[in-house]
Amino acid sequence: MARKGRLFVISAPSGAGKTTLIKQVLKKFPEISYSVSHTTRPPRPGETHGKDYFFIHESEFVDMIDADLWLEWARVHGHYYGTSRTFVEEQLENGSILLLDIDVQGAAQIMASGLDPVSVFIMPPSLEELGRRLENRGTDDPRTIARRLKNAKEEIRQKHMFQYVLVNDDLETAFAQLCHIFEKEMETS
Ligand code: ADP
Ligand code: 5GP
Repeated sequence: MARKGRLFVISAPSGAGKTTLIKQVLKKFPEISYSVSHTTRPPRPGETHGKDYFFIHESEFVDMIDADLWLEWARVHGHYYGTSRTFVEEQLENGSILLLDIDVQGAAQIMASGLDPVSVFIMPPSLEELGRRLENRGTDDPRTIARRLKNAKEEIRQKHMFQYVLVNDDLETAFAQLCHIFEKEMETS
């Protein structure tokens, strides 16, 4: 069967700058659609239901696991996160270029699904800088930050499964590198 749409999967340890970079990518490439995930974590100040995430209750999330409605899902930093199977299948059927911002466990599930995604892992320059960015972002309490930093080490150990790995040290440079990946991969799809 001919491939209709195209999937891009981006993962990174929390605080590496993934959201910042993805926002810039979506602004530069209006032809790329963003897959809004579902999560059971509470919204951060400024986050909008339906735009940043669909914020749902744990019982609803678990019901959807039982009904096999997630294309992929994972428990990350103590909360559930998942991607709607119907949404992705419809988008791909319509020929969309779809960007998924998901963790390494979810990325592994997508890679095993046969959907043949382009996969990118974003690294922080160091764990110290990652900690500084999480603190400066000011959205998480110290316990949450400690948990995210601890998980970062395990996530970074799995970066080899991604096609592209880039370091977000200087934001402008990382953005240029990411744009180059998208341009190259969209040309060949
Ligand atoms: P993630 O989505 O990976 O958790 P964010 O995009 O929220 O990360 O970025 C975490 C924090 O780091 C934010 O405050 C953001 O403004 C900042 N940041 C992102 N990229 C850089 C960079 N290259 N240099 C310095 N700070 C950055
Ligand atoms: P945050 O709580 O900082 O928004 O996201 C925490 C982590 O969950 C990030 O690594 C993010 O990529 C991941 N994530 C967001 N949505 C999904 C999803 O739908 N599935 C999976 N597996 N991970 C997700």
